[in-house]
Amino acid sequence: MAGIADRNPQQGTRKLPFPKGFLWGAATAAHQVEGDNVNNDWWAFEQRPGAIWHGDRSGPACDWWCNAEADFDRMAEMGHNTHRLSVEWSRIEPEEGTFDPAAIARYREMLTGLRRRGVEPMVTLFHFSSPSWLAHQGGWRNPAVVGYFRRFARHTVEQLGDLVKLWCTINEPNVYAAVGYLLGEHAPGAKNPRHCFQVLSHHLQAHAAAYRVIKAMDGSAHVGLVMNIIVFEPLDPGYRASVRAAKLADYAFHDLVFRAIGDGKLRFPLGLGLTRHGPLIDSVDFWGVNYYTRQRVSLQRQFLQPTPGAEVSDSGHSGPYGEIYPEGLYRVLKRVAALRPQGVPIYITENGLPDSDDDQRPRYLLTHLAQMQRAIAEGVDVRGYYHWSFTDNFEWAEGWALRFGLIALDEKTQVRTPRRSAQLYTDIIRANAITPGMVANYAPEVMSDIFP
Ligand code: BGC
Repeated sequence: MAGIADRNPQQGTRKLPFPKGFLWGAATAAHQVEGDNVNNDWWAFEQRPGAIWHGDRSGPACDWWCNAEADFDRMAEMGHNTHRLSVEWSRIEPEEGTFDPAAIARYREMLTGLRRRGVEPMVTLFHFSSPSWLAHQGGWRNPAVVGYFRRFARHTVEQLGDLVKLWCTINEPNVYAAVGYLLGEHAPGAKNPRHCFQVLSHHLQAHAAAYRVIKAMDGSAHVGLVMNIIVFEPLDPGYRASVRAAKLADYAFHDLVFRAIGDGKLRFPLGLGLTRHGPLIDSVDFWGVNYYTRQRVSLQRQFLQPTPGAEVSDSGHSGPYGEIYPEGLYRVLKRVAALRPQGVPIYITENGLPDSDDDQRPRYLLTHLAQMQRAIAEGVDVRGYYHWSFTDNFEWAEGWALRFGLIALDEKTQVRTPRRSAQLYTDIIRANAITPGMVANYAPEVMSDIFP
């Protein structure tokens, strides 16, 4: 059963209701939307031949540095009451130890603009892009990054804290370390397991340092850590080596971090040792969950792949972006709800898919939100949902090829065209529920899954 349905006596229809005051919005990241972030490691990485599919560049991106406000208007018109964005470290601290008041002024203008439109901002301090000065010092491999990040967090929260109640310290330390330092597909393009775990360790220490400094400045701030959570399962459950590999992937990608927040110990796999970091213990006021897909693990064929025969989304440079697996969201929410510290609320800080012609997104949205509602109805404390993403934006190593937006963007002309999903999302937000009418209208093929 997908969700827990309520009877609505007035209409005589069933619906899947969401909690009163639920936060609904979309998520973005600075480097993917602002444009002309020339002073960071990603801009440099984009210049490397072969680094980005089709040789794409972020360029002016979605032009948010000059004009985010037109999209903020659209968010308000579409009923969004929150937006998750990130600040760009290289703009706020363009040289080591030197902060730029003009960058702070622009972020204040953006955050004030969101609030004025009734859109509560959630702000991420680090979403994949590092200032060039840091990259030149070894980036996140340099242990000094922990102190640098603490100083940057303190300054940013001092300057913007009156406008922000919800902070995310770091976006997806697990993806950052794995894709940038093990798979070599993101900046800086390294392939070294030892470096990968070193960077993960620095990320977590930086998270804890930022958490402590923000809470000392403003005890009422809500500060969380955002994890990408993948459902890893063996391709062939009868093949013991694949089962073990899936467990290892799950441990290295998720539990290593979850356990460290629980007891302050980072236990590295592959004989890479154990380190202790007291400040990590209980350093989350909420968990940010980014859920996209399930991956089947195999040692005989391609290491990660979709379940054979499952529906998949649009393809990137190495194949389908991912399997569409709505129940995974329910499973992930139940898993996170059981973590230590107990009782920590959850925000779904990203969920979405690349789907340029929007033939899958309405169904994806309805089935994933039904699974979220199922978890909420069973007592999981989910406070908000942020769809990835508002408009199409610069999709890292995939460039402009993968289209995640509720709104289509022609990055050359900056013309925006809402996809059907944008209207569906607005309907859900306005009703604060999923109704059979919406399913009938947008994805009748999943009616019996959602309203059995
Ligand atoms: C990242 C986003 C990215 C999205 C879609 C997430 O892992 O946080 O920056 O665009 O996935 O791939």
